[in-house]
Amino acid sequence: MELESIVLPGISNQRPLVIAGPCSAETEEQVLTTAKELAAKGIKIYRAGIWKPRTKPGGFEGIGTEGLVWLQRVKKETGMYIATEVATRHHVEEAVKYGTDILWIGARTSANPFAVQELADALKETGFDGPVLVKNPVNPDLELWIGAMERLYNAGIRKIGAIHRGFSSYDKKLYRNLPQWHIPIELKRRLPNLPLISDPSHIGGKRELIAPLSQQAMDLNYDGLIIESHCEPDTAWSDKDQQITPDVLAYILNLLVIRDTKQTTESLTELRQQIDQLDNEWMSTLAKRMRVSREIGQYKKEHNMPVLQTHRYDEILYKRVGEAKELGMGDAFMKVVLEAIHEESIRQQIDVLNQ
Ligand code: PEP
Ligand code: MN
Repeated sequence: MELESIVLPGISNQRPLVIAGPCSAETEEQVLTTAKELAAKGIKIYRAGIWKPRTKPGGFEGIGTEGLVWLQRVKKETGMYIATEVATRHHVEEAVKYGTDILWIGARTSANPFAVQELADALKETGFDGPVLVKNPVNPDLELWIGAMERLYNAGIRKIGAIHRGFSSYDKKLYRNLPQWHIPIELKRRLPNLPLISDPSHIGGKRELIAPLSQQAMDLNYDGLIIESHCEPDTAWSDKDQQITPDVLAYILNLLVIRDTKQTTESLTELRQQIDQLDNEWMSTLAKRMRVSREIGQYKKEHNMPVLQTHRYDEILYKRVGEAKELGMGDAFMKVVLEAIHEESIRQQIDVLNQ
């Protein structure tokens, strides 16, 4: 893809490109107050959701077209560019009619090729020529994400950017949406000229995670950040736990360390981040394995079975050591790993037995 810059006139080329504003436009007052506070902090691009994709019915589903009039006021009174999410042809037509500068496609929409194609067609027909940012689909599918951007490209859109907002998971512990950093890293490797923006608000789902996630994105050479900011976060009608005041946003942005991307260790940093991410993954997989092992221990206890079942252990060892070679690892290494895992597994089961 031969892309054009998404950096609009009057905006600095320095990282990070910052887009900030409330999850949703709620009232004219909230939209304008937040915008003025952000503009005073030097923010140049204002985001606000006008149509909100909510998981369950009955919640606030967005103010609709009326909110676009408020965004027009923001543009006129603060000089900021305005950005909103579009999910249907109607949204595109309305957003374009009201002079929206930047559009983004939400995570639920980018997972649906029919919807993305409809948007691509509508963007072409309306002649929209501002940047279009594509959030990663909710499911961790890099090809689907790239496919969505290709649909836009094929419709003649050239100012395309990607937003990494994390991936849905059943297990919501630390993050609301798992970052799965290896996916955006691979995206950057495949499409080096595609601007990549991090959405720490939707990845973390909590205010406290915005600063560390933003720093991590900068360390991975992301080009920008989209952060939810609200004049009174605790009263927000959607995503209140992850919104921060313009003051806090400015504080976080000030503390970010932007390392020189020209350094020769740049690729080393990316690789090390990948290693860290992979280590996180295998550690949590191992922990899950131990939990299952304890459940087996419980079963054995209830059925009066011995903890060590040599036959089963031999089977695992034989099968996995054989596979190790195919995966490019030494069989002696795999044997040591499996023995260590087995040893800990036995220890856990004996622990269950003694409870
Ligand atoms: C949003 O940006 O407020 C939003 C709905 O995000 P996502 O599509 O990432 O869930
Ligand atoms: Mn939101």
